[in-house]
Amino acid sequence: MKAKVTAILLSLVFYLPAQGEPATQVSASEIISQNTVKGLTGKVRDVTVRAPAPTSIQPLSAVQPGVDVDLRLMAQWAMNYLIRTPRKEFDYEPVFQANPMNCPPVPGGHDVVVACDTDARMDWEWYYMREISGSTAGKDIEAAFHKRMLAYVRADGTVLSHPGCYNEGDINRVYTEKDYVYHVWGATKILNSLAEDFRRTGNVGSKETARKIMLRLKKLAVYPVPDRCCFPAGMGAMKQDGTPVPNGWNKMPAPVVEPLINYYQACGDLEALEFAKAYAEGIMAGTQPDGIKIKADGDIDNGHSHTTMHALWGIAHLGIVTGDEKYTAFAKRSWDFMLSRGTGTGWFPALPGGHPTDETCLTSDMMSNAAMIARGGYPEYFDYVERYLRNRISPCVFIVTPEFEAEYRMVNRACGEEKIRQGLEDVRKLQGAIRSYCGLNDLENSILNGTYHVLAGCCAPEGMRAIYTTWSHVIDRYPASKLGPAGVYVNMSFNRDSKWGRVVSFMPATGRLTVKAGVQDDFFLRPPHWAPRDQVKAFVGSQAVPVQWSGDYVRFTNIKIGDEVTIIYPLLGFLHEAGGIWKNGLPGVNVTYQWLGNMVIAVDPPAAKTPIFSPEVRILPPPPAEVMKQ
Ligand SMILES: [Zn+2]
Repeated sequence: MKAKVTAILLSLVFYLPAQGEPATQVSASEIISQNTVKGLTGKVRDVTVRAPAPTSIQPLSAVQPGVDVDLRLMAQWAMNYLIRTPRKEFDYEPVFQANPMNCPPVPGGHDVVVACDTDARMDWEWYYMREISGSTAGKDIEAAFHKRMLAYVRADGTVLSHPGCYNEGDINRVYTEKDYVYHVWGATKILNSLAEDFRRTGNVGSKETARKIMLRLKKLAVYPVPDRCCFPAGMGAMKQDGTPVPNGWNKMPAPVVEPLINYYQACGDLEALEFAKAYAEGIMAGTQPDGIKIKADGDIDNGHSHTTMHALWGIAHLGIVTGDEKYTAFAKRSWDFMLSRGTGTGWFPALPGGHPTDETCLTSDMMSNAAMIARGGYPEYFDYVERYLRNRISPCVFIVTPEFEAEYRMVNRACGEEKIRQGLEDVRKLQGAIRSYCGLNDLENSILNGTYHVLAGCCAPEGMRAIYTTWSHVIDRYPASKLGPAGVYVNMSFNRDSKWGRVVSFMPATGRLTVKAGVQDDFFLRPPHWAPRDQVKAFVGSQAVPVQWSGDYVRFTNIKIGDEVTIIYPLLGFLHEAGGIWKNGLPGVNVTYQWLGNMVIAVDPPAAKTPIFSPEVRILPPPPAEVMKQ
């Protein structure tokens, strides 16, 4: 990242990032209502057109789009983490305790928080990151990793493990087999993995094991009334005698609805869909006696932010699968509640109070929920997915930069050269993980008194899911839905190749999105919610065509393979004085973001340490050759 971000003044004379275009002075007459921009906490002001929509365009063959966020490169780096962190000598056990500025960055020996948590979260990412990256590297490690996960599953579908992850702070505990519990959290995760495995490989064994896990979870469920259920210990573990293991996590609902839906979609098991609905109804009605009771206004009753939103994701998805608005509305209320606590850039407090720490797991959940809420009839929520990817996930991809290495050597100079060399070698295995924490204006969170270089084993893989959530919603083919008629939908401005077409983003230089069609169909392209509709233009090839609105999308009818369809919109810039509950304990801290479209390009006060925001898109270096095999 570039230091020049700190030199940008927050004023009405905006920095104009388009290469080769002159800087422009914005006149007062061009000021646009602050209400145009949604989804941010605090105050938006000085909304102006920063780059007007051009009246003519050139085809892709004649134009060089600027450099935008590279989701594929992020996934390639993620493969580095997936391949290089499992430790063969511990049955491919990965690491939860990863503090890359420490020497050593990862403690030796077993990591007791990993079982059915870090490993279970990573297990999904092999499928997702391989799909995006196209890499075929590390297949032997992936096979051994999936085998490791299946070893938790007993013949009747019970998932047995020690409860190390439920006691996250107790990292020196030594567990033995007599400590094994029915690991509900792990069971939900492994169920989802097996659904992905069957979808991709057709492996019947995965389908059969998934059904066993589903039936075992269903046996655990308590139904006080028909069609509504809960688990006795929520997301917590059960003793093998069938009683709850006392634990602070037991009041949190299990994240079981999404894995049940995914398994139903992959394997067609209607029993799982019925179970998903019953558990969702149980969360909505507060059925678990000692569980959190989500309030009518979406307030999550002091629940843990990540685990609550992780559980609600499936409910948001149920809104799409069933078409029933009540599920979407329920998830949306809590999503909006959670937004009111954060800034709108992708930063949300991890804990119920105004605690000044965020968490990547939560950001990823907010993105998964937002994508489902968007599909449920609120397409502007795709802008929130785009914002969090650009401004929170992308800057947090951990790479050993020359600056990091220099700091590592300085901080750890007392360790001596050999330990530093070994430490840096181990740190490089962690590259591609998503950092756990991010600050308001620098990565270290200096302004809120943090000093964070943490790659916790929950966040590192959940951040990868955020990449997948984004990538899988850039372009997709939907049946008729709340978004409009059936067709190919392009929801966000990111580059992506797909079977439906190649999406080309012209961010951050121009508000232009072009798709080269890969199928014959109707195409629906969405300009961001803040783009003035009367200034949006449409093109087929380089030929301007009348703009045909279909809800929030511009519709292109009967497009042929190879056709290029384009929307152009004015790119807005604005200032955003961030609000949120985090300010309650820190009323003297004020942060103002300068936005260009969905991208934060500068912040005041500027970064004290490692910058997060820049007018230039962060482009990662090439990944190591061994994870790039295709
Ligand atoms: Zn986490």
